[in-house]
Amino acid sequence: MDNILRIAIQKSGRLSEDSLKLIKECGIRFDNGAGKLKTSATNFPAEILFLRDDDIPGYVEDGVAHLGIVGENVSVESDRDVNTVHKLGFSKCRLSIGVLREHDYAGVQDLEGKSIATSYPKLLGKYLAENNVTAQIHEISGSVEIAPSIGLADAVCDIVSSGSTLLSNGLKEVETIFKSEAVMIASKHLTAGQQDLLDQLLFRIKSVQVAKN
Ligand code: ATP
Ligand code: ZN
Repeated sequence: MDNILRIAIQKSGRLSEDSLKLIKECGIRFDNGAGKLKTSATNFPAEILFLRDDDIPGYVEDGVAHLGIVGENVSVESDRDVNTVHKLGFSKCRLSIGVLREHDYAGVQDLEGKSIATSYPKLLGKYLAENNVTAQIHEISGSVEIAPSIGLADAVCDIVSSGSTLLSNGLKEVETIFKSEAVMIASKHLTAGQQDLLDQLLFRIKSVQVAKN
């Protein structure tokens, strides 16, 4: 048990393909039979768990998984006590505030007294506090961009990559509050053996990254 690394990755979503690719590029072989929740590596003492991304920081904090690959946005928002050990360079995106296109927006002070729909209440709350703005945060879990056009909120704070989702909902991007990419997070309670395996894995990841640049 002490000498196996359990690595949690997203089961299906925007992080999945690149997470699997990274592990494979590190020379770790495993059978990823479709629909499996767990698989063992055949040539490295590791197991891979396939989970919803939102659950990964909590599993790593609890030590159920020793490592996890997750968006920095999700890790920071979760506020879990984990170590961020490496930035992985994929799934780059930003957390931005958007308002209706016709809104005459002059600056962050225009958000004073407004309502903002988001799935990231902690990151948004911190940004508003830093900018001395008091606004109402409406936490919703999905389809955030539709909120202004149906009158549910004055603005949104959501993940943007190209900006096309904002545009197609009649919104414009006015503030970027957080820049994100996939990161590797680790439990704070690794055994010496697990730390050694993590060091080996990080060495391989860095070699893969150097080879690509
Ligand atoms: P799950 O079903 O695992 O909960 P999800 O729907 O919450 O998945 P995805 O949409 O797969 O999550 O996004 C996972 C991560 O990919 C995001 O948290 C973010 O870090 C990153 N990402 C990159 N580009 C985008 C984008 N355009 N929209 C959403 N997330 C993006
Ligand atoms: Zn999720």
